[in-house]
Amino acid sequence: MGNDDLESNNCSAQLEKVDQCIPPLQDRFGRVFDYVRIAIIEKCNLRCTYCMPEEGVEFADKNMILDTDELLRAIGVLARLGVKKIRYTGGEPLMRKDILDLVKGANNTPGIKGVHLTTNGLLFPRLAKDLLDAGLMGVNISLDTLDPGKFKEITRRDGIEEVLESINLAVKLGFPRVKVNVVLMRGFNEDELVAFTELTKDLPVTVRFIEFMPFDAEQIWESGDHFASANNIVDQIKAIYPGLDVASGTRTEHYIFKAPGYAGKIAVIPAFSRDLCGNCSRIRLTADGAVRNCLYSSKDYNLRGLIRKGCSDDQIVTLFRQAYDEKAKDGFEAKKLSDQKIVNLDGLRQPRTSMTQIGG
Ligand code: SAM
Ligand code: SF4
Repeated sequence: MGNDDLESNNCSAQLEKVDQCIPPLQDRFGRVFDYVRIAIIEKCNLRCTYCMPEEGVEFADKNMILDTDELLRAIGVLARLGVKKIRYTGGEPLMRKDILDLVKGANNTPGIKGVHLTTNGLLFPRLAKDLLDAGLMGVNISLDTLDPGKFKEITRRDGIEEVLESINLAVKLGFPRVKVNVVLMRGFNEDELVAFTELTKDLPVTVRFIEFMPFDAEQIWESGDHFASANNIVDQIKAIYPGLDVASGTRTEHYIFKAPGYAGKIAVIPAFSRDLCGNCSRIRLTADGAVRNCLYSSKDYNLRGLIRKGCSDDQIVTLFRQAYDEKAKDGFEAKKLSDQKIVNLDGLRQPRTSMTQIGG
């Protein structure tokens, strides 16, 4: 696309800091994609039972993982396509040595308005101040139990003190958005609904109860009856806290409340029920460089291969546009299409069975 084309598009108002303005990334259903979740590593220092088996999964070789320059280049192109929000995830993103450069680089990219991170919190205390200085706006810290014994059972490691310290430190240091991710599972931690909600009494954090999804490298989804639906979680919260106020949140925070007088909020994320597909604004990039247009799709679009063949930025734009032209109406449709045909382009790995390989 040449400069004349760029000037003829009327999108400069929303991309005031971006020098080259092109039409935003949109799909057939009119959804606009302005938020990218980028897995930057597959490896992790925990082994959460709902995510990975004890022995881990087959991690991609290091040379298959996108490096700093490749990631920042992709972010630059995405910013031209109208992306404003970046979330680094993984695996455990704080295990990447270049995490501060990645935060700084994304934050300095014209058009990007917020850089966020999802972490298990183990390494956060030692990096928190530098992350804040690098421009990190928000941190989601995953914690599924407040009980040290259960923490060890769920994560198969120690570390609850560090995670709790991380939550308090993030608030103390003044990160603009601090959230706690809780995968709520029957028979694991459903009995801690109140204890987690009570965290919001004094702490200005959003506690997000997330539905368990079948991306656990096939260990416990099949064998247990652990799924708790968002509707059921909402009903339980409403029964315990009558008079909840409806609060404002992000698009994924489909149900969001605030107990009267409490400092923080409680959200319920229907990640499996998929009530939020109509509002989807997410682009996903896996650590090994695949674009995924839906968490429930198994089709990979090979960005790594394209970049390493020496492509132009316009070719990257075309790849993202193709991926989003092909996005299914919702996660059910995406899953149905994936069951019919597993697509593997140019040697990207299939299937991806754990959140660490997809990017949670
Ligand atoms: N390691 C980091 C962490 O745990 O926060 C970032 C990566 S992790 C894959 C991202 C999020 O996905 C975490 O909040 C985690 O609890 C969630 N997650 C992992 N497996 C899941 C599953 N099977 N169902 C629902 N959420 C899951
Ligand atoms: Fe690691 Fe996060 Fe998966 Fe737990 S959920 S094993 S912390 S990647």
